[in-house]
Amino acid sequence: MSTRALVVGNWKMNLDFVEALHLTQQLGVLLRHRPLEHVDVVVAPPFVDLRTVSSVIESERLPIALAAQHVSEHRAGPFTGEVSVAMLQRLTVAAVIVGHSERRAHYAMDDDVVARTVRAVTANGLDAIVCVGEDGDVRDAGHHVTFVAEQLRRALGAGTESHRARVCVAYEPVWAIGRGTSATAEQVREMSRAIREVLVSLNLGDARVLYGGSVNGENASTLLRDGEVQGFLVGGASLRAESFVAILRASDDCYARKR
Ligand code: PEP
Repeated sequence: MSTRALVVGNWKMNLDFVEALHLTQQLGVLLRHRPLEHVDVVVAPPFVDLRTVSSVIESERLPIALAAQHVSEHRAGPFTGEVSVAMLQRLTVAAVIVGHSERRAHYAMDDDVVARTVRAVTANGLDAIVCVGEDGDVRDAGHHVTFVAEQLRRALGAGTESHRARVCVAYEPVWAIGRGTSATAEQVREMSRAIREVLVSLNLGDARVLYGGSVNGENASTLLRDGEVQGFLVGGASLRAESFVAILRASDDCYARKR
């Protein structure tokens, strides 16, 4: 199991390239002021901001890695509006968020597309942050554990060889995203254990399991410790440097205590 937490900021469709530049610079100032010791930091800006953010990270040597929010499963060709893995690699992108619930809901990204996309990402040497999570109806019916376990098996089942050391799983209950109230640590722990079982059965037991859904500086420590996750996928709170860094610091402190 990793001795470092992983915290990913998903900026979604927010921040133009000037705003992205400012946020990256602000993150740099705060992280330089008090460096993190136990946290891998990743930000996932919109495609059009990647080049700008990549330049700031490189020129200021910031301890931040770059992720994309989505990628095409295809290598190249007539796929209007899409972006390929190779294009991301040219921009020093290290990871891709795959199968976020918003892409599943609004862009018909089903389990098969998710599985093919994860394969395209890992087979070409990038990391995949694979999102799974149930909606409110599935949870109310009590099927959440089997639902998420099946989603994960479908996403990772084919091609686990290239997935090794290249995937992490973000458990993001749809009902907790952008709501201001996260899942409880007990709910997260139940699911992180189930996810870990699936990962072990696929021989991917080293993968980190993240939680996402209304994480903030106040709930991060409890979720990390009692939820038995190794980091977070953060939406709203990643759009301001102070609130994102509060989560990073809480995670860093938790991991420092573990040592
Ligand atoms: C997300 O959409 O990945 C997410 C976790 O959003 P938020 O933190 O705003 O709930």
